[in-house]
Amino acid sequence: MPLALAAQMTIGAEPVTTERLLEVINPATAEVIGHAPDAGQAELDQAVACARKAFPAWKATTHEQRSKLLQQFAQRMVEHADELAELFTLEHGRPLAMAKEEILGAAFWIRGIAQLELPVEVVEETDARRVEVHHEPLGVVCALVPWNFPILLAAWKISHALATGNTMVLKPSPFTPLTTLRLGELTRDIFPAGVLNIISGGDHLGPLMTSHKGFAKISFTGSTATGKRIMESAAKDLKRITLELGGNDAAIVLPDVDVDEVALKLFMGAFFNSGQVCVACKRLYIHESIYERLRDKLHQLAQTLPIGDGMQPGMLFGPIQNLPQYRRVLQLRDEARDAGLVLLEGAAVPERGYFMPLTLVDNPPEDSRVVAEEAFGPILPLLRFSDIDEVIDRANASDYGLAGAVWSKDVAKALEIAKRLETGTVWINQNLESSPLVPLGGHKQSGIGVENGVAGLMEFTQPKSIFVPKSA
Ligand code: NAD
Repeated sequence: MPLALAAQMTIGAEPVTTERLLEVINPATAEVIGHAPDAGQAELDQAVACARKAFPAWKATTHEQRSKLLQQFAQRMVEHADELAELFTLEHGRPLAMAKEEILGAAFWIRGIAQLELPVEVVEETDARRVEVHHEPLGVVCALVPWNFPILLAAWKISHALATGNTMVLKPSPFTPLTTLRLGELTRDIFPAGVLNIISGGDHLGPLMTSHKGFAKISFTGSTATGKRIMESAAKDLKRITLELGGNDAAIVLPDVDVDEVALKLFMGAFFNSGQVCVACKRLYIHESIYERLRDKLHQLAQTLPIGDGMQPGMLFGPIQNLPQYRRVLQLRDEARDAGLVLLEGAAVPERGYFMPLTLVDNPPEDSRVVAEEAFGPILPLLRFSDIDEVIDRANASDYGLAGAVWSKDVAKALEIAKRLETGTVWINQNLESSPLVPLGGHKQSGIGVENGVAGLMEFTQPKSIFVPKSA
Protein backbone atom coordinates (compact mmCIF):
# COMPACT_ATOMS: atom_id res chain seq x y z
CA MET A 1 0.00 0.00 0.00
CA PRO A 2 2.75 2.52 -0.85
CA LEU A 3 0.38 5.43 -1.55
CA ALA A 4 -1.43 5.06 1.71
CA LEU A 5 1.81 4.87 3.67
CA ALA A 6 3.07 8.01 1.95
CA ALA A 7 -0.02 10.14 2.69
CA GLN A 8 0.98 13.69 3.49
CA MET A 9 -0.88 16.92 4.03
CA THR A 10 -0.73 19.82 1.58
CA ILE A 11 0.06 23.18 3.16
CA GLY A 12 1.14 26.07 0.95
CA ALA A 13 1.47 23.56 -1.94
CA GLU A 14 4.14 21.67 0.04
CA PRO A 15 3.99 18.19 1.57
CA VAL A 16 3.80 18.30 5.36
CA THR A 17 3.64 15.43 7.81
CA THR A 18 3.62 14.99 11.57
CA GLU A 19 5.48 12.74 13.97
CA ARG A 20 2.26 11.32 15.33
CA LEU A 21 0.16 9.44 12.80
CA LEU A 22 -3.45 8.27 12.61
CA GLU A 23 -4.16 4.66 11.72
CA VAL A 24 -6.48 4.15 8.78
CA ILE A 25 -8.53 0.94 8.77
CA ASN A 26 -10.07 -0.97 5.89
CA PRO A 27 -13.63 -1.66 7.13
CA ALA A 28 -13.92 -4.74 4.90
CA THR A 29 -11.09 -6.46 6.81
CA ALA A 30 -10.71 -4.41 10.02
CA GLU A 31 -6.98 -4.20 9.20
CA VAL A 32 -4.78 -1.13 9.27
CA ILE A 33 -4.01 -0.20 5.67
CA GLY A 34 -2.19 3.08 6.06
CA HIS A 35 -1.42 6.12 8.13
CA ALA A 36 -2.23 9.80 7.90
CA PRO A 37 -0.69 12.81 9.62
CA ASP A 38 -2.25 13.85 12.93
CA ALA A 39 -2.06 17.64 12.76
CA GLY A 40 -2.28 19.85 15.83
CA GLN A 41 -2.32 23.59 16.50
CA ALA A 42 1.08 24.21 14.88
CA GLU A 43 0.17 22.67 11.51
CA LEU A 44 -3.27 24.29 11.62
CA ASP A 45 -1.71 27.72 12.25
CA GLN A 46 0.67 27.11 9.37
CA ALA A 47 -2.17 26.13 7.01
CA VAL A 48 -4.33 29.11 8.00
CA ALA A 49 -1.36 31.48 7.60
CA CYS A 50 -0.70 30.13 4.09
CA ALA A 51 -4.38 30.45 3.14
CA ARG A 52 -4.54 34.01 4.48
CA LYS A 53 -1.40 34.96 2.62
CA ALA A 54 -2.80 33.54 -0.62
CA PHE A 55 -6.20 35.23 -0.25
CA PRO A 56 -5.58 38.78 -1.60
CA ALA A 57 -4.03 37.58 -4.89
CA TRP A 58 -6.63 34.83 -5.35
CA LYS A 59 -9.47 37.26 -4.64
CA ALA A 60 -8.03 39.57 -7.32
CA THR A 61 -8.16 36.89 -10.04
CA THR A 62 -11.05 36.85 -12.49
CA HIS A 63 -13.79 34.26 -12.40
CA GLU A 64 -12.48 32.98 -15.72
CA GLN A 65 -8.99 32.40 -14.30
CA ARG A 66 -10.32 30.58 -11.26
CA SER A 67 -12.71 28.55 -13.36
CA LYS A 68 -9.86 27.46 -15.63
CA LEU A 69 -7.81 26.14 -12.71
CA LEU A 70 -10.84 24.32 -11.28
CA GLN A 71 -11.36 22.67 -14.67
CA GLN A 72 -7.71 21.54 -14.60
CA PHE A 73 -8.29 20.11 -11.14
CA ALA A 74 -11.33 18.18 -12.39
CA GLN A 75 -9.32 16.87 -15.34
CA ARG A 76 -6.53 15.70 -13.00
CA MET A 77 -9.11 13.77 -10.97
CA VAL A 78 -10.42 12.07 -14.09
CA GLU A 79 -6.87 11.11 -15.13
CA HIS A 80 -6.23 9.58 -11.70
CA ALA A 81 -9.72 8.11 -11.22
CA ASP A 82 -8.64 4.45 -11.08
CA GLU A 83 -5.92 5.04 -8.54
CA LEU A 84 -8.14 7.28 -6.40
CA ALA A 85 -11.03 4.80 -6.57
CA GLU A 86 -8.84 1.97 -5.34
CA LEU A 87 -7.60 3.98 -2.40
CA PHE A 88 -11.21 5.06 -1.73
CA THR A 89 -12.48 1.47 -1.58
CA LEU A 90 -9.63 0.40 0.68
CA GLU A 91 -10.28 3.06 3.29
CA HIS A 92 -14.04 3.45 2.85
CA GLY A 93 -15.39 0.02 1.96
CA ARG A 94 -17.68 1.08 -0.89
CA PRO A 95 -17.35 -1.30 -3.89
CA LEU A 96 -14.81 -0.23 -6.48
CA ALA A 97 -17.15 0.59 -9.39
CA MET A 98 -19.18 2.90 -7.17
CA ALA A 99 -16.07 4.42 -5.64
CA LYS A 100 -14.99 5.35 -9.15
CA GLU A 101 -18.41 6.88 -9.78
CA GLU A 102 -17.83 9.15 -6.79
CA ILE A 103 -14.44 10.30 -8.14
CA LEU A 104 -15.87 10.98 -11.61
CA GLY A 105 -18.98 12.55 -10.07
CA ALA A 106 -16.79 14.87 -8.02
CA ALA A 107 -14.92 15.95 -11.17
CA PHE A 108 -18.24 16.56 -12.95
CA TRP A 109 -19.36 18.67 -10.00
CA ILE A 110 -16.24 20.80 -9.95
CA ARG A 111 -16.76 21.53 -13.64
CA GLY A 112 -20.42 22.39 -13.05
CA ILE A 113 -19.76 24.75 -10.15
CA ALA A 114 -16.81 26.36 -11.95
CA GLN A 115 -19.19 27.46 -14.70
CA LEU A 116 -21.55 29.26 -12.34
CA GLU A 117 -20.83 32.91 -11.86
CA LEU A 118 -22.09 35.59 -9.50
CA PRO A 119 -22.05 38.69 -11.69
CA VAL A 120 -22.36 42.23 -10.36
CA GLU A 121 -26.09 43.01 -10.08
CA VAL A 122 -27.48 46.44 -10.86
CA VAL A 123 -30.46 46.65 -8.48
CA GLU A 124 -31.35 50.29 -9.11
CA GLU A 125 -30.70 52.57 -12.08
CA THR A 126 -32.08 56.12 -12.15
CA ASP A 127 -30.95 59.45 -13.60
CA ALA A 128 -29.37 60.22 -10.27
CA ARG A 129 -27.58 56.99 -9.42
CA ARG A 130 -26.83 53.34 -10.02
CA VAL A 131 -26.70 50.83 -7.20
CA GLU A 132 -24.52 47.79 -7.78
CA VAL A 133 -24.32 44.66 -5.63
CA HIS A 134 -20.96 42.89 -5.75
CA HIS A 135 -20.51 39.43 -4.26
CA GLU A 136 -17.20 39.48 -2.45
CA PRO A 137 -15.33 36.44 -1.14
CA LEU A 138 -15.18 36.13 2.64
CA GLY A 139 -11.56 35.07 3.24
CA VAL A 140 -10.32 31.69 4.43
CA VAL A 141 -12.93 28.92 4.60
CA CYS A 142 -12.71 26.06 7.09
CA ALA A 143 -14.11 22.91 5.44
CA LEU A 144 -15.07 19.87 7.52
CA VAL A 145 -16.05 16.74 5.60
CA PRO A 146 -17.72 13.51 6.81
CA TRP A 147 -16.70 9.95 5.92
CA ASN A 148 -19.75 8.86 3.93
CA PHE A 149 -18.98 10.77 0.67
CA PRO A 150 -15.45 11.96 1.37
CA ILE A 151 -14.47 13.02 -2.14
CA LEU A 152 -17.76 14.31 -3.53
CA LEU A 153 -18.43 16.48 -0.50
CA ALA A 154 -14.84 17.75 -0.42
CA ALA A 155 -15.22 18.65 -4.12
CA TRP A 156 -18.43 20.57 -3.39
CA LYS A 157 -16.72 22.63 -0.72
CA ILE A 158 -13.53 23.23 -2.68
CA SER A 159 -15.36 24.27 -5.86
CA HIS A 160 -17.76 26.65 -4.10
CA ALA A 161 -15.07 28.35 -2.06
CA LEU A 162 -12.41 28.65 -4.75
CA ALA A 163 -14.79 29.65 -7.56
CA THR A 164 -15.98 32.61 -5.49
CA GLY A 165 -12.44 33.76 -4.67
CA ASN A 166 -11.98 32.34 -1.16
CA THR A 167 -9.04 30.23 -0.03
CA MET A 168 -9.47 27.09 2.07
CA VAL A 169 -8.20 24.72 4.71
CA LEU A 170 -10.01 21.40 4.40
CA LYS A 171 -10.07 18.49 6.82
CA PRO A 172 -11.39 15.03 5.89
CA SER A 173 -12.87 12.70 8.49
CA PRO A 174 -10.20 10.80 10.46
CA PHE A 175 -11.91 7.61 9.18
CA THR A 176 -11.30 8.44 5.49
CA PRO A 177 -8.31 10.78 5.11
CA LEU A 178 -6.17 9.00 2.52
CA THR A 179 -7.98 9.67 -0.76
CA THR A 180 -8.47 13.32 0.16
CA LEU A 181 -4.79 13.72 1.07
CA ARG A 182 -3.84 12.17 -2.25
CA LEU A 183 -6.19 14.60 -3.97
CA GLY A 184 -4.35 17.43 -2.21
CA GLU A 185 -1.06 16.12 -3.59
CA LEU A 186 -2.54 16.19 -7.10
CA THR A 187 -3.44 19.88 -6.78
CA ARG A 188 -0.01 21.17 -5.72
CA ASP A 189 0.99 22.32 -9.20
CA ILE A 190 -2.47 23.59 -10.15
CA PHE A 191 -3.53 26.23 -7.61
CA PRO A 192 -1.25 29.02 -6.36
CA ALA A 193 0.42 28.05 -3.08
CA GLY A 194 -1.92 28.38 -0.09
CA VAL A 195 -5.18 28.57 -2.05
CA LEU A 196 -6.12 24.98 -1.12
CA ASN A 197 -4.63 23.38 2.00
CA ILE A 198 -5.59 19.90 3.13
CA ILE A 199 -4.80 18.74 6.65
CA SER A 200 -5.72 15.61 8.60
CA GLY A 201 -6.01 14.86 12.27
CA GLY A 202 -7.93 13.13 15.05
CA ASP A 203 -10.96 14.30 17.01
CA HIS A 204 -9.07 17.22 18.58
CA LEU A 205 -8.49 18.96 15.22
CA GLY A 206 -12.09 19.90 14.26
CA PRO A 207 -12.73 22.00 17.40
CA LEU A 208 -9.30 23.67 17.02
CA MET A 209 -10.34 24.64 13.50
CA THR A 210 -13.82 25.98 14.30
CA SER A 211 -12.42 28.21 17.08
CA HIS A 212 -9.50 29.48 14.96
CA LYS A 213 -9.75 33.22 14.45
CA GLY A 214 -8.15 33.05 11.01
CA PHE A 215 -11.26 31.57 9.41
CA ALA A 216 -14.07 33.73 8.02
CA LYS A 217 -16.47 30.86 7.36
CA ILE A 218 -17.12 27.25 8.26
CA SER A 219 -18.57 24.88 5.68
CA PHE A 220 -19.57 21.75 7.56
CA THR A 221 -21.23 18.50 6.51
CA GLY A 222 -21.85 15.92 9.19
CA SER A 223 -24.15 14.99 12.03
CA THR A 224 -26.69 17.32 13.62
CA ALA A 225 -25.04 16.88 17.05
CA THR A 226 -21.67 18.10 15.72
CA GLY A 227 -23.40 20.87 13.73
CA LYS A 228 -24.77 22.32 16.97
CA ARG A 229 -21.29 22.35 18.52
CA ILE A 230 -19.92 24.07 15.44
CA MET A 231 -22.59 26.75 15.54
CA GLU A 232 -21.75 27.42 19.18
CA SER A 233 -18.06 27.68 18.41
CA ALA A 234 -18.65 29.92 15.36
CA ALA A 235 -20.84 32.26 17.40
CA LYS A 236 -17.81 33.51 19.38
CA ASP A 237 -16.58 35.60 16.46
CA LEU A 238 -19.66 35.41 14.22
CA LYS A 239 -18.06 33.25 11.55
CA ARG A 240 -20.39 32.55 8.65
CA ILE A 241 -21.65 28.96 8.61
CA THR A 242 -23.19 26.49 6.22
CA LEU A 243 -24.34 23.34 8.01
CA GLU A 244 -25.41 20.27 6.02
CA LEU A 245 -26.61 17.85 8.68
CA GLY A 246 -28.46 14.61 9.29
CA GLY A 247 -31.79 13.40 7.97
CA ASN A 248 -34.45 10.79 8.62
CA ASP A 249 -35.99 10.90 5.18
CA ALA A 250 -39.42 9.44 4.48
CA ALA A 251 -40.53 7.97 1.17
CA ILE A 252 -44.27 7.53 0.61
CA VAL A 253 -45.40 4.81 -1.79
CA LEU A 254 -48.97 5.20 -3.09
CA PRO A 255 -51.14 2.19 -4.02
CA ASP A 256 -50.99 2.78 -7.79
CA VAL A 257 -47.27 2.02 -8.29
CA ASP A 258 -46.02 -0.98 -10.25
CA VAL A 259 -44.45 -2.90 -7.37
CA ASP A 260 -42.09 -4.91 -9.57
CA GLU A 261 -40.86 -1.80 -11.29
CA VAL A 262 -40.24 0.38 -8.23
CA ALA A 263 -38.86 -2.22 -5.81
CA LEU A 264 -35.20 -2.09 -6.90
CA LYS A 265 -35.22 1.71 -7.13
CA LEU A 266 -36.67 1.97 -3.62
CA PHE A 267 -34.16 -0.57 -2.37
CA MET A 268 -31.17 1.31 -3.78
CA GLY A 269 -32.55 4.61 -2.46
CA ALA A 270 -32.35 3.15 1.02
CA PHE A 271 -29.31 0.83 0.88
CA PHE A 272 -26.88 2.49 -1.56
CA ASN A 273 -23.55 2.99 0.26
CA SER A 274 -24.95 0.59 2.89
CA GLY A 275 -27.52 3.17 3.93
CA GLN A 276 -24.84 5.73 4.82
CA VAL A 277 -26.29 8.55 2.76
CA CYS A 278 -27.64 11.74 4.31
CA VAL A 279 -30.56 11.79 1.86
CA ALA A 280 -31.20 8.02 1.83
CA CYS A 281 -34.73 6.83 2.46
CA LYS A 282 -34.72 5.98 6.17
CA ARG A 283 -38.47 5.44 6.67
CA LEU A 284 -40.43 3.72 3.90
CA TYR A 285 -44.19 4.33 4.15
CA ILE A 286 -46.09 1.81 1.99
CA HIS A 287 -49.82 1.88 1.33
CA GLU A 288 -51.52 -1.05 3.05
CA SER A 289 -52.96 -2.41 -0.20
CA ILE A 290 -49.48 -3.21 -1.56
CA TYR A 291 -47.56 -3.53 1.72
CA GLU A 292 -47.00 -7.30 1.78
CA ARG A 293 -46.15 -7.54 -1.90
CA LEU A 294 -43.58 -4.75 -1.79
CA ARG A 295 -42.16 -5.94 1.54
CA ASP A 296 -41.58 -9.43 0.16
CA LYS A 297 -39.99 -8.08 -3.00
CA LEU A 298 -37.61 -5.88 -1.00
CA HIS A 299 -36.75 -8.81 1.24
CA GLN A 300 -35.97 -10.92 -1.80
CA LEU A 301 -33.60 -8.22 -3.06
CA ALA A 302 -31.87 -8.07 0.34
CA GLN A 303 -31.36 -11.83 0.17
CA THR A 304 -29.97 -11.89 -3.36
CA LEU A 305 -27.98 -8.70 -4.08
CA PRO A 306 -24.21 -9.15 -3.57
CA ILE A 307 -22.59 -7.78 -0.40
CA GLY A 308 -18.92 -8.18 0.55
CA ASP A 309 -15.40 -6.80 0.19
CA GLY A 310 -15.65 -3.98 -2.35
CA MET A 311 -12.30 -4.92 -3.91
CA GLN A 312 -13.93 -8.11 -5.22
CA PRO A 313 -15.65 -7.65 -8.57
CA GLY A 314 -19.43 -7.52 -8.77
CA MET A 315 -20.16 -6.28 -5.25
CA LEU A 316 -23.05 -3.83 -4.82
CA PHE A 317 -22.82 -3.28 -1.06
CA GLY A 318 -19.87 -3.04 1.31
CA PRO A 319 -19.38 -2.86 5.05
CA ILE A 320 -20.39 -0.13 7.48
CA GLN A 321 -17.60 2.40 7.18
CA ASN A 322 -16.17 2.50 10.70
CA LEU A 323 -16.24 0.68 14.03
CA PRO A 324 -18.20 3.23 16.13
CA GLN A 325 -20.89 3.44 13.43
CA TYR A 326 -20.94 -0.37 13.10
CA ARG A 327 -21.51 -0.75 16.83
CA ARG A 328 -24.23 1.91 16.78
CA VAL A 329 -26.20 0.29 13.96
CA LEU A 330 -25.81 -3.21 15.46
CA GLN A 331 -27.13 -1.88 18.75
CA LEU A 332 -30.13 -0.33 16.99
CA ARG A 333 -30.85 -3.64 15.27
CA ASP A 334 -30.39 -5.72 18.44
CA GLU A 335 -32.60 -3.39 20.43
CA ALA A 336 -35.32 -3.74 17.76
CA ARG A 337 -35.01 -7.53 17.91
CA ASP A 338 -35.08 -7.58 21.73
CA ALA A 339 -38.24 -5.45 21.63
CA GLY A 340 -39.92 -8.21 19.63
CA LEU A 341 -39.93 -6.38 16.29
CA VAL A 342 -39.83 -8.54 13.16
CA LEU A 343 -36.49 -8.28 11.31
CA LEU A 344 -36.20 -9.48 7.72
CA GLU A 345 -32.53 -10.11 7.12
CA GLY A 346 -30.67 -10.15 3.85
CA ALA A 347 -27.87 -12.38 2.56
CA ALA A 348 -25.16 -13.64 4.89
CA VAL A 349 -22.11 -11.36 5.17
CA PRO A 350 -18.36 -12.00 5.59
CA GLU A 351 -17.34 -12.71 9.17
CA ARG A 352 -14.46 -10.31 9.36
CA GLY A 353 -14.84 -6.59 8.82
CA TYR A 354 -17.73 -4.34 9.79
CA PHE A 355 -20.46 -6.15 7.86
CA MET A 356 -24.11 -6.43 8.74
CA PRO A 357 -26.78 -8.06 6.56
CA LEU A 358 -29.06 -5.58 4.82
CA THR A 359 -32.06 -5.59 7.14
CA LEU A 360 -35.74 -4.60 6.88
CA VAL A 361 -37.92 -4.04 9.93
CA ASP A 362 -41.53 -5.13 9.39
CA ASN A 363 -43.92 -2.34 10.39
CA PRO A 364 -42.37 -1.25 13.72
CA PRO A 365 -44.13 1.30 15.95
CA GLU A 366 -43.55 4.92 14.96
CA ASP A 367 -41.85 5.71 18.29
CA SER A 368 -39.32 2.85 18.14
CA ARG A 369 -35.70 4.03 17.89
CA VAL A 370 -35.24 2.41 14.48
CA VAL A 371 -37.96 4.73 13.11
CA ALA A 372 -37.44 7.86 15.18
CA GLU A 373 -33.63 8.10 14.82
CA GLU A 374 -31.35 8.44 11.82
CA ALA A 375 -29.91 4.91 11.56
CA PHE A 376 -27.28 5.78 8.95
CA GLY A 377 -26.65 2.12 8.17
CA PRO A 378 -28.15 -0.89 6.35
CA ILE A 379 -31.42 -1.10 8.29
CA LEU A 380 -34.73 0.18 6.98
CA PRO A 381 -38.13 0.31 8.71
CA LEU A 382 -41.13 -0.46 6.46
CA LEU A 383 -44.27 1.29 7.69
CA ARG A 384 -47.91 0.67 6.68
CA PHE A 385 -50.29 3.52 6.03
CA SER A 386 -53.87 3.86 4.85
CA ASP A 387 -54.59 7.58 4.71
CA ILE A 388 -52.65 10.31 2.85
CA ASP A 389 -53.14 13.10 5.41
CA GLU A 390 -52.09 10.79 8.20
CA VAL A 391 -48.93 9.62 6.39
CA ILE A 392 -47.90 13.20 5.61
CA ASP A 393 -48.22 14.04 9.31
CA ARG A 394 -46.12 11.00 10.20
CA ALA A 395 -43.46 11.91 7.61
CA ASN A 396 -43.29 15.48 8.95
CA ALA A 397 -43.22 14.46 12.61
CA SER A 398 -39.43 14.65 12.77
CA ASP A 399 -36.86 17.17 13.94
CA TYR A 400 -35.11 16.50 10.64
CA GLY A 401 -36.18 17.86 7.25
CA LEU A 402 -33.52 16.96 4.70
CA ALA A 403 -35.25 15.12 1.81
CA GLY A 404 -38.24 12.95 1.00
CA ALA A 405 -39.83 11.09 -1.88
CA VAL A 406 -43.28 10.30 -3.24
CA TRP A 407 -43.94 7.33 -5.55
CA SER A 408 -47.06 7.21 -7.72
CA LYS A 409 -48.19 6.89 -11.34
CA ASP A 410 -50.21 10.05 -10.72
CA VAL A 411 -47.47 12.70 -10.86
CA ALA A 412 -49.88 15.60 -10.21
CA LYS A 413 -51.09 13.93 -7.03
CA ALA A 414 -47.51 13.18 -5.99
CA LEU A 415 -46.62 16.83 -6.55
CA GLU A 416 -49.41 17.92 -4.19
CA ILE A 417 -47.99 15.62 -1.53
CA ALA A 418 -44.42 16.81 -2.26
CA LYS A 419 -45.49 20.40 -1.55
CA ARG A 420 -46.69 19.37 1.90
CA LEU A 421 -43.45 17.66 2.98
CA GLU A 422 -41.25 19.80 5.26
CA THR A 423 -37.95 19.00 3.60
CA GLY A 424 -35.30 20.76 1.52
CA THR A 425 -35.65 18.32 -1.40
CA VAL A 426 -38.46 16.04 -2.58
CA TRP A 427 -38.13 13.48 -5.36
CA ILE A 428 -41.06 12.11 -7.34
CA ASN A 429 -40.53 8.55 -8.57
CA GLN A 430 -36.77 8.82 -8.07
CA ASN A 431 -34.12 8.92 -5.38
CA LEU A 432 -30.84 10.55 -4.46
CA GLU A 433 -30.75 12.83 -7.53
CA SER A 434 -28.80 16.08 -7.29
CA SER A 435 -27.06 18.54 -9.59
CA PRO A 436 -24.46 21.32 -9.35
CA LEU A 437 -27.27 23.70 -10.34
CA VAL A 438 -29.80 22.66 -7.70
CA PRO A 439 -29.59 23.93 -4.10
CA LEU A 440 -29.42 21.19 -1.49
CA GLY A 441 -30.11 21.93 2.15
CA GLY A 442 -32.25 20.97 5.08
CA HIS A 443 -35.27 22.28 6.95
CA LYS A 444 -35.39 22.17 10.75
CA GLN A 445 -32.41 20.40 12.34
CA SER A 446 -31.10 19.10 9.02
CA GLY A 447 -29.07 22.21 8.47
CA ILE A 448 -28.60 25.89 7.82
CA GLY A 449 -27.99 27.20 4.32
CA VAL A 450 -27.52 25.26 1.10
CA GLU A 451 -24.81 23.93 -1.16
CA ASN A 452 -24.99 23.97 -4.99
CA GLY A 453 -26.57 26.35 -7.42
CA VAL A 454 -26.27 30.10 -7.29
CA ALA A 455 -27.74 30.04 -3.76
CA GLY A 456 -24.92 27.73 -2.67
CA LEU A 457 -22.26 30.03 -4.11
CA MET A 458 -23.83 33.05 -2.41
CA GLU A 459 -23.09 31.46 0.96
CA PHE A 460 -19.38 31.90 0.30
CA THR A 461 -19.72 35.61 -0.39
CA GLN A 462 -20.73 38.86 1.25
CA PRO A 463 -23.00 41.17 -0.76
CA LYS A 464 -21.43 44.62 -1.04
CA SER A 465 -23.75 47.39 -2.22
CA ILE A 466 -22.10 50.33 -3.94
CA PHE A 467 -24.04 53.56 -4.56
CA VAL A 468 -22.64 55.26 -7.66
CA PRO A 469 -23.82 58.83 -8.41
CA LYS A 470 -24.44 59.70 -12.07
CA SER A 471 -22.62 62.99 -11.62
CA ALA A 472 -19.83 63.95 -9.24
P1 NAD B 1 -19.54 13.97 12.19
O1 NAD B 1 -20.41 15.09 12.60
O2 NAD B 1 -19.09 13.02 13.26
O3 NAD B 1 -18.18 14.50 11.51
C1 NAD B 1 -18.14 15.31 10.36
C2 NAD B 1 -16.79 16.02 10.30
O4 NAD B 1 -16.67 16.93 11.40
C3 NAD B 1 -15.58 15.10 10.41
O5 NAD B 1 -14.54 15.65 9.62
C4 NAD B 1 -15.23 15.17 11.88
O6 NAD B 1 -13.88 14.87 12.14
C5 NAD B 1 -15.53 16.64 12.19
N1 NAD B 1 -15.87 16.90 13.60
C6 NAD B 1 -16.37 16.04 14.51
N2 NAD B 1 -16.58 16.67 15.70
C7 NAD B 1 -16.23 17.96 15.50
C8 NAD B 1 -16.24 19.14 16.34
N3 NAD B 1 -16.68 19.10 17.60
N4 NAD B 1 -15.83 20.30 15.80
C9 NAD B 1 -15.43 20.36 14.52
N5 NAD B 1 -15.38 19.30 13.68
C10 NAD B 1 -15.78 18.11 14.17
O7 NAD B 1 -20.31 13.23 11.01
P2 NAD B 1 -19.96 11.85 10.32
O8 NAD B 1 -20.27 10.74 11.29
O9 NAD B 1 -18.60 11.93 9.71
O10 NAD B 1 -21.04 11.84 9.12
C11 NAD B 1 -22.31 11.28 9.23
C12 NAD B 1 -23.37 12.36 9.37
O11 NAD B 1 -23.25 13.32 8.34
C13 NAD B 1 -24.80 11.82 9.25
O12 NAD B 1 -25.61 12.39 10.25
C14 NAD B 1 -25.24 12.31 7.87
O13 NAD B 1 -26.63 12.42 7.70
C15 NAD B 1 -24.54 13.62 7.78
N6 NAD B 1 -24.40 14.05 6.39
C16 NAD B 1 -25.15 15.10 5.94
C17 NAD B 1 -25.08 15.50 4.60
C18 NAD B 1 -25.91 16.65 4.08
O14 NAD B 1 -25.65 17.10 2.97
N7 NAD B 1 -26.88 17.15 4.81
C19 NAD B 1 -24.23 14.82 3.73
C20 NAD B 1 -23.48 13.75 4.22
C21 NAD B 1 -23.56 13.38 5.55
